Amino acid sequence: MISDSDPDCLFCKIVAGDLPAERLYEDDELLAFKDISPQAPFHGLIIPKTHLATLNELTPDHAELAGRMILTAQALAAEHGLRGYRIVVNTDHEGGQVVFHVHMHVLGGRQMQGGLG
Ligand code: AMP
Ligand code: ZN
Repeated sequence: MISDSDPDCLFCKIVAGDLPAERLYEDDELLAFKDISPQAPFHGLIIPKTHLATLNELTPDHAELAGRMILTAQALAAEHGLRGYRIVVNTDHEGGQVVFHVHMHVLGGRQMQGGLG
């Protein structure tokens, strides 16, 4: 897959290797790395290598990519011994998104509370 990248994007710089990250998984389309400010004992981020700013930019052509992100979350959780975990995709400003390159948080290793703030 040919990846589009945005030279000003933090996560594109991580994909390119221009910024360091603790990489957890990588293939042609996806990269997973540890969140720099973990909110749980395990906190990984899964991103498409191609630059997509928010979930709202995905089209039906991205259905397989989106599915593979979820399966990668499942695989990372299994690899790190997590039976239960939470996946979150903050979307746009109102959704609490800060880094505008689509990313899926995978959080686990502690008891998550039931509510969603
Ligand atoms: P969000 O609010 O969903 O946009 O979350 C962005 C996430 O990216 C936050 O959890 C940050 O801690 C994380 N983050 C920001 N910069 C880096 C970085 N250089 N390496 C790893 N994670 C980062
Ligand atoms: Zn990007």
